Amino acid sequence: MKVFNLSCDHDHVFEGWFGRAEDFDRQVEAGLIQCPVCGSGGIRKLLSAPRINRGRGEARPTHAVGKTEPDAASPPSPSSAQLELQRLWIQMARQVIESTEDVGNRFAEEARRIHYQEKPARAIRGEATPREAADLAEEGIEVLAFPMPAALKNPVQ
Ligand SMILES: [Zn+2]
Repeated sequence: MKVFNLSCDHDHVFEGWFGRAEDFDRQVEAGLIQCPVCGSGGIRKLLSAPRINRGRGEARPTHAVGKTEPDAASPPSPSSAQLELQRLWIQMARQVIESTEDVGNRFAEEARRIHYQEKPARAIRGEATPREAADLAEEGIEVLAFPMPAALKNPVQ
């Protein structure tokens, strides 16, 4: 689900929800989107991502967007909350990396050996397919899925 901030040619701003980004273009072309305030069909997508209104101080004047301007090309800038989440995520990932042994794609095998005490108990990390993870869960072996930031997986040289 995509949420866009839309504006009509009278600068009425409203939210539009779409299954996919392309749906917006298709629905505008077909004249399916109208301004809920004035009914105008001259709808354009605003550049900024939907954000919480924190007062008028932050409101930036919306410049007129011509039909030729490729506004879809510029990605919305991440909000400070998103950056903070990302920072915490990377911090957690670093802790996981520091406190575990990387066993790569032997993860399921190693987890099983540790569980059945064929190997000394230790914290490991690695990759498991959804199937392997399901099998481990069935055997009562607890594993935690943690998405690793790509930046930490492939450290910059
Ligand atoms: Zn309007």
